[in-house]
Amino acid sequence: MRLIETIAELRDWSRLSRAWGRCVGLVPTMGALHAGHIALVQAARARCQAVAVSIFVNPTQFGPNEDFSRYPRTFAADCAMLEAEGVDVVFAPSVEEMYNPGASTFVEVDGLSSRLDGLSRPGHFRGVATVVAKLFLAAEPDHAFFGQKDAAQVAVLRRMTRDLALPLELVVCPIVREPDGLALSSRNRYLSPPERAQALVLHRALTAVAIEFHAGNTRADSLKSLAAAIFAVEPDVKIDYIEAVDWETLLPVQTAIPGTLIAVAAWVGTTRLIDNLILS
Ligand code: AMP
Repeated sequence: MRLIETIAELRDWSRLSRAWGRCVGLVPTMGALHAGHIALVQAARARCQAVAVSIFVNPTQFGPNEDFSRYPRTFAADCAMLEAEGVDVVFAPSVEEMYNPGASTFVEVDGLSSRLDGLSRPGHFRGVATVVAKLFLAAEPDHAFFGQKDAAQVAVLRRMTRDLALPLELVVCPIVREPDGLALSSRNRYLSPPERAQALVLHRALTAVAIEFHAGNTRADSLKSLAAAIFAVEPDVKIDYIEAVDWETLLPVQTAIPGTLIAVAAWVGTTRLIDNLILS
C-alpha cells in the first residue's frame, strides 16, 4: 500500500491506473476508521481495480465550537486496516496541501446546504462540498463511495456532482450498525458507558417509525411525533432534529412514501449523533 501526501502524486497515480485499464475508486474519510468505513472500502474493491482511501480531518467542515481539535486521529491503526483490505493508496494530505494559504474558493450547494445538519451546523456542507470537490479533482475517480449514514451529505454531494457534471458515479452504501443497532461512528468513542446505552434511542425511534409506516401510517407529522415520544424515554438525550424529507431536495414532506428519508440528530451528553432510515 502506497502513502501519498500530495495532490499531484495522487493525480499521477490515478491517471496511470486508468492508462493500465483500471477503474479508479475513491473512499473519502476523516480516519478513525471502523467497520462502516471498511464496508465502503470493500464495495470499492468489488467494483474498482485501483482503490484510494483519503484520510483528512477537514477543518472547513467544523464550526468554531466543534470537535476539530479533539477529533480522533488513529492514523497507524487506520493504515493497518486499509492494508489488510488490499487498498492501493492512502491519501493523507496536510491541511496546507489541501488548502493553499489564503485559499478563498469554496463550493456552495445552495439550499440543500442549509437543511438538516446544515441548519444546526452552518457552513458544514460548504466545507464538505469544497473538500470533496477538491478530492475528486485530485483523485479523478470513476466511482466514489459514501455511506447512507450521512444521508444529507449524500444529497448535497449528488447535487454537486450533477450540477458540475463531474464525470464520476457516487455509490451509496448501507449503514453499518453495532449488533444492538447503534450506527457506527467515529464519534461513538466519545460516549461514556451510560451515554452509549442512551444513544440507542436514535435507532429505537427510527425502528418505531419504520414499523408504523409499514402499518399504514404515512402522515409525516404523526411519524415524527412517534419518534419524539420514543426519544422522551431518554430525557438526557436532546433532539437536534427529527425530519421526514425528500432525499433529493431535503425538503420536508407531509406524506411519507417509500424513499422518504427519516433523519434524526441528537445530543448525547456533549456528543452529537446522527442516524436515518429510508422508508421502504
Ligand atoms: P467520516 O470519516 O465520518 O467522514 O465518514 C467517511 C465515510 O464513511 C462517509 O461516507 C460516511 O457516510 C461513511 N460512514 C460513516 N459511518 C458509517 C456507517 N456506520 N455505515 C456506513 N458508512 C459509514
